[in-house]
Amino acid sequence: MTDDRRAGLADLHLAEDEEGILACVHCGFCLQACPTYRVLGDENDSPRGRIYLMRALVEERLDSDDGAFATHIDRCLGCRACETACPAGVEYGSLLERARADRTEAAGGPDLLTRLLLWVFSDALRTRLALGLGRALRATGLAGALERVLPGRAGLAMRLLASTRPADGAADAGDAGNAGSDAEAPASDAPSFALLEGCVMSGLFGHVNGATRRVLGAHGYGEVAATEQGCCGALHAHAGMKEEARELARRNIRAFEESGADRIAVNSAGCGAAMREYPEWMAGDPVWVARARELADRVRDVTELLDDAPERPPLALAGRVAYDAPCHLLHGQGVEDEPLDVLGRIEGLEVSRLPSCDSCCGGAGIYNLLQPELAERVLAPKLDDIEGDAPRWVATGNPGCLMQIGSGLRERRAAVRAVHPVELVDRALT
Ligand code: SF4
Ligand code: SF4
Repeated sequence: MTDDRRAGLADLHLAEDEEGILACVHCGFCLQACPTYRVLGDENDSPRGRIYLMRALVEERLDSDDGAFATHIDRCLGCRACETACPAGVEYGSLLERARADRTEAAGGPDLLTRLLLWVFSDALRTRLALGLGRALRATGLAGALERVLPGRAGLAMRLLASTRPADGAADAGDAGNAGSDAEAPASDAPSFALLEGCVMSGLFGHVNGATRRVLGAHGYGEVAATEQGCCGALHAHAGMKEEARELARRNIRAFEESGADRIAVNSAGCGAAMREYPEWMAGDPVWVARARELADRVRDVTELLDDAPERPPLALAGRVAYDAPCHLLHGQGVEDEPLDVLGRIEGLEVSRLPSCDSCCGGAGIYNLLQPELAERVLAPKLDDIEGDAPRWVATGNPGCLMQIGSGLRERRAAVRAVHPVELVDRALT
């Protein structure tokens, strides 16, 4: 390698993992698993095509500010269905984060909308204010009214917001669900959990956080507080802002270390996947890698905790639910059976898997706001599945998926409601 090439590559995040790129043997087994390839039919919008583009960048046949590189990397949902399909073990999610960091740096930073959202979620007070305003728009019915009159992304944002209303007339806990459990102190030998409250979960899904606490308590877990916790950093990492993501991760590592919890309970699949990746985010810093690994080993999705609970209270609820797996739970964390097993233990509840259960809904963090037309096309077959099956609920364990599917169902005026699995377990307890 020449000195010039070495100097050019030194700045590329992708060049740090050239081996990861070369692991792709171009077999194409991932193509049909990829939602953007299925919708667009363009090789450049497939995992294999995107890896070709990454390779071209590292081999200096393409610049990181090249328009084609930006377009096809931006269109990727980051759903990681290609990782599950890949027989060669290509770690596409990690390559994508490096590609996004290169693309963001070449553009001089993220686009305006991403920058605004990340600015809000970087600070606890700004997050509380923005999501408090969101709750007010939802509670007064303004979000539902504005979704029909505001054009484009503004109308879409209102519909996404309106879709977060608790289902079937359940009480809107506001952010009350975020208050720590006031249940009796757990028995001293009960395994303890600290809940990752999450930005969007605590701001718009306080009722799900409340249900998570009640359900874990009823299953024999005792809650401990992790008061200094904050945003998990997933949105920053996915936008290519690696140092900002690391700073948020360090804050959470400190907070959950101080909590002393046996397990970190997460009810947002995107946040859980990010926290399990903290050791990779800290690569190059052995002290933080070790602390991140210790945290990642304690992270559990709430359905994993329920599946492995010390107590199993009776559960009963009549109705029919179709389960849809969040990509960051299924492909990102390998949690496949637990949500179905937990729902399957509820007497009187008929549980099925959506035919498109393992395919992305198009939510993908803030992708639905950044790429609204494509996100809608990715979502459409799933909505057809749901309407064909006509259950009372569709259950999925991630706020982005709840909003994307929920808003699609709203737009079609379907009677089906999108709920988190723990909401059904919570109802089945009472
Ligand atoms: S992450 Fe999802 S959208 Fe992106 S290449 Fe892989 S399968 Fe396709
Ligand atoms: S399945 Fe894996 S090895 Fe085959 S083309 Fe896709 S990413 Fe490359």
